[in-house]
Amino acid sequence: MRLDRFLAETTELTRGLARRVLTAGEVTVNGEVARKGARHVSEEDSVCWREERLALTGLRYVMLHKPLGVECSARRSLYPRAVDLIELPHHDRLQPVGRLDVETSGLLLFSDDGQWSHRVTSPRYRCAKVYHARLARSLEGDAALEAINQFAEGIQLEGDDTPTRPAQLECLTPHEVRLTIHEGRYHQVRRMLAAIGNHVEVLHRESIGQLVLDPDLAPGQWRELTDAEIALFQ
Ligand code: URA
Repeated sequence: MRLDRFLAETTELTRGLARRVLTAGEVTVNGEVARKGARHVSEEDSVCWREERLALTGLRYVMLHKPLGVECSARRSLYPRAVDLIELPHHDRLQPVGRLDVETSGLLLFSDDGQWSHRVTSPRYRCAKVYHARLARSLEGDAALEAINQFAEGIQLEGDDTPTRPAQLECLTPHEVRLTIHEGRYHQVRRMLAAIGNHVEVLHRESIGQLVLDPDLAPGQWRELTDAEIALFQ
């Protein structure tokens, strides 16, 4: 790869700025100052800028504790973007793996590995997503039993062609439920609970498949996934 491109790939520098730091003699290759952007380097070469050795990152996998009030979409809108919380070089090349509403918090994954993301999100793989919801109206007794059965059978949501896949509802307290779904329809959890006459006041995603939100991450914090966590979806 050309040296100017290597610099642009491994730092926040644009190609133009990369050429400038090269001309200024700030970059070394194998200990020698390198000024020509057209020079080719490979992974075996030691490329340093400002005393730091640069390396190509490969594919990246991140878990974010999404806070309320941030948007998953890459488009700039009214809300700050979740991806901008991730302080990695070229963080905006990371794609959200599935979505959470602006007003939902919890586990949100990002990656630039399209195949891996597909395995997490595609309904074909039936990956379980677990949500904790706080309800506006109490759900207990017979109504709770009925809701558990309805969700287990699948319910027809307004505007959808087919009923939802079987979902598991746990009533934790009269105003708190845990809902496990195996697909990712638009506003699915809110719409399912609305379909039984309730209203979600607070919604938080706890886990995706075997991957649980790291309790050490406060809202807005992120970390890269471990190899074992990545392997859960391979
Ligand atoms: N279901 C919803 O209604 N909202 C989310 O953010 C995720 C699932």
